[in-house]
Parts: sequence; C-alpha cells; structure tokens
Amino acid sequence: MIKTDGIILKSRKYRESDFLLTIFTRKIGKINAIAKGAQRPKSPLISGVQPFCYSEFLLFKGKSLYTVTQCEAKEIFYSLREDIERLTYAAYIVQLVESVTNEGQTNNRLFNLLGKTLYILTNPDTEINTVIRGFEIQFLDYCGFKPELYRCVSCGTKESSSWRFSAQEGGLICKKCLNIDPYAMQITVHTLKLARYLQIKDIKDIQNLKISDYLNEKLQKLLKQYILVHINKYDFKGMNIINKL
Ligand SMILES: [Zn+2]
Repeated sequence: MIKTDGIILKSRKYRESDFLLTIFTRKIGKINAIAKGAQRPKSPLISGVQPFCYSEFLLFKGKSLYTVTQCEAKEIFYSLREDIERLTYAAYIVQLVESVTNEGQTNNRLFNLLGKTLYILTNPDTEINTVIRGFEIQFLDYCGFKPELYRCVSCGTKESSSWRFSAQEGGLICKKCLNIDPYAMQITVHTLKLARYLQIKDIKDIQNLKISDYLNEKLQKLLKQYILVHINKYDFKGMNIINKL
C-alpha cells in the first residue's frame, strides 16, 4: 500500500463502472491505476478521479496496474471546466507533463509546478499567456532540457552584439558561431530578457505580469520549436485548439 498525493493526467471510463487513470504522483512518479466502481454516482472515489484533480491516494500495487483503494480530493479545479480556453490550456500543460514522466521516476519540482499552474489557471484575473510561457520554460528546465539563455552553447561567450536561438543546440548562439545551426531563430534583447525572467521566477509571482502580444508570439514561437525538438510531442490536440481561439 502506498499513500501519496497525485494529479490526474488522464481519466477514461473503463469496463462497466470503473475508471482507468493516469496519475502523476509525488512519491512514485507517473502510474496507471484502476478506480473500481468509480463511475457509480455514490462511489466515494468519484470526486477525486476527474481530470486535473489533485488528490491524496491510497494505492495498492497489482501485477500490471495499481488499484485506487481510497482517494480524497484536495483540489478539483472545478472552474477550469467552465471555461473552454482555460480548460484547453490545462489540457495542454497536463499533456506536456504526461509526455516526459515515467513510472518510478519522481519529479518534485515538476509536480509542484503543475499543481501551482493548474491552481493559477482557475483565477479569472490571471495573465494566461504569461503563465503558459512561464510554465513551458520552467517545464523544460525541470524535465532536463533547460534552454541556455546566458552564454553561447558553442563557444561559451557571454558577449555578443546579437544572438540567435537554436532549438537543436539547446539555446543561444553568438554571432561568431552562427554556422553551427543555420536554422537558429532570431531572438531580440527584449524576448531574451523576458525568457530569462520567466525561467527563474516562481510561477505564482508572474501570474499578473502583462506581456505584449508581440513578445508573447515571439517567445511562443521559440519555445514551440524547442519543445518540438526536445520533447517531440508538440502534436497536442490542445495546442491546435488554442491556435484557433
Ligand atoms: Zn559562440
């Protein structure tokens, strides 16, 4: 038996009355678990097994699956379900986390980031663009793909009159090293400053920071390319919907 906090990454109906869950847990990383009878209206598990739910679970390890024996919802993020835009962003960040986490591999920083970001997304005054860019850039750090934003990834210099950003090489390229990646994208001083700021600030402290649509678009483009190269899973349904909003 294991007692742990967890966030529901996926929840789908299974058999007649069960739910099959993918849970990102604090103690044992990402797991698949079955919640027996949780489709029944009177099930004590029902409220804690909905998508995005942050719950405390009591789990029993079976041969191939865990079984949820108890679950107490701590935060159900109900208001996310009432707003299609926020719901879509929540689905997007959950998919990012799902794509990099593994069973048995804990990641406390990523767990905390996901929990905080879902919580922040429920606040109607949140600057969504800022929060999502901040999430993306910190997510990359916490899953081992931190983009280098302070020195050239090739020669190490911190001084250059202009910079490019190479998704392939993992960050900045100075003017002299341009030839190592002809596809590196331009990055202005303003975009770079914003990226550095979002990389180190607590996500709670940036939730009200307004950034211009122009800067947001620039940074989004760089991060999208970066995630595509390193996570290789940018084909998210969520993102396609977001782009149409
Ligand atoms: Zn260089």
